[in-house]
Parts: sequence; C-alpha cells; structure tokens
Amino acid sequence: MADALIQATDVGRAYRQGSATVAAVVEATFQLQPKDRMALMGRSGSGKSTLLHLMAGLDRPDSGSLLWPALGAAESLLPAKIALVFQAPSLLEPLTVAENVALPLLMSGAVVDTDAAVTAALATFGLTHLADKLPETLSGGQMQCVAMARAIVGQPQLILADEPTGQLDRVTGQALLDALLQHLAGTETALVIATHDPAVAERMTMIWRMDHGRLLADGQREVVA
Ligand code: ADP
Ligand code: MG
Repeated sequence: MADALIQATDVGRAYRQGSATVAAVVEATFQLQPKDRMALMGRSGSGKSTLLHLMAGLDRPDSGSLLWPALGAAESLLPAKIALVFQAPSLLEPLTVAENVALPLLMSGAVVDTDAAVTAALATFGLTHLADKLPETLSGGQMQCVAMARAIVGQPQLILADEPTGQLDRVTGQALLDALLQHLAGTETALVIATHDPAVAERMTMIWRMDHGRLLADGQREVVA
C-alpha cells in the first residue's frame, strides 16, 4: 500500500474560551490514503473545521501524533501539496478572480504556465466569464466556486474543503461536486469534504461523523452504497 497522506494517532486540540477549555478534537485516530473520498459530517461546533485545519498543517495538535508520510513536514504542505478551501469567504478583495485563482501557483513557485492553468481551473467550474471580476461583485455561491477553482489549480495531492456548498442551492452544489469529482477522476488526489448535506456526503466513498470533537468512525471505513 502507498504511504498514507495522513496518519493521525490520538490527535487532540483544545481551545481556551475565557476561563474554560473547549475540547474541539478529541483523540482522533485515522489514516487518509491517496484517492480517498471522505465526507466529514457533524453538527455545528462538533470540530470539523478544527480537524481540517489540523489535517492541513495550518494548526498544530496539543496532543497525539499527526504525520504526513507521503507528503512531508507540516510547514511544506500548503498550498502546493494540500489545498484548503476555507468555510469563510477567503478571496482577496483587491485581486480579480483570475488573480485569486493564480495565488497558489505564485506562492508555491510552481513552474507551470500560470495563465493556462488558471484558465483551465476556471473552465472546470464554468467560471470563465468571471475571470476579470472583483470578489465584491460576486455572490456568496460564486465565491465558493472560485475558491474551489483555486484549490485545484496547483494539482495538490489532497483537497480539504470546509462546507464548500454551504452557500449554494442544491442543484448548484451538486454541479460543483460533479465538476470536482470529474476533474479528480483517474488522479491520485484525495478529497475530504466537511458537509451538513447528506446529498453531498452520499457522493463520497466514506463518511466520518464527528460528535463533540470525537470522530465516531475512528479510522474505520464506512462505505456508502
Ligand atoms: P465545526 O466546524 O464542526 O462547526 P469547529 O471546529 O469550528 O466546529 O469548532 C469546534 C469547537 O471549538 C466549538 O466549540 C468552537 O466554539 C470551538 N472553537 C473553534 N475555533 C475556536 C477558536 N479559534 N477559539 C476558541 N474556540 C474555538
Ligand atoms: Mg466548521
């Protein structure tokens, strides 16, 4: 078997909220392999975003072991090897859509034809007509689609998407997912989507559920028919 993209053992992360401590992720043990299609489900506050940020190397665990055997050190992951689609709007306001989508390539110093890669990423999600627009002129749903184009542009080995269809109606959300899954078909890229939407989760091959910081399917693979 290929090296795991992520190997997590008893990973924990707690936040201070005033004098209280909130356990956002509790003893999470799991592996993620190339090509995995994972839905991360759970109520608001169950720890999904915290877990995605840990998986991206953006945040560090307080306890346990979190390794990226196939990818390397935590500092080297974003944005070239792992793309993170944030739950909150994350486009840079002064930049056009095309410039926003180009950012991962510029940040990682990728030796590619940037214009061609951006054009292809926008076309994948039917966003070509928005290339020269500024983010403030877009709807919330369009911004989410652009953030997804930015996630695929550098051909990362893992895409972590935090409620990427949260601002979209069901039909548009499914179209975004269709385009993403079609784009990833035949590649080694793994995908983790945090979602409340069962229709989105059904399109993945595995579902992990979170409840009060605990991963209920701890490392086990729940295959959806
Ligand atoms: P979800 O994405 O499932 O809604 P989160 O990971 O955002 O869950 O939050 C998990 C828990 O951690 C919640 O109780 C939330 O209030 C808390 N939390 C998240 N981020 C912070 C933070 N930066 N500071 C303090 N508490 C936080
Ligand atoms: Mg969240």
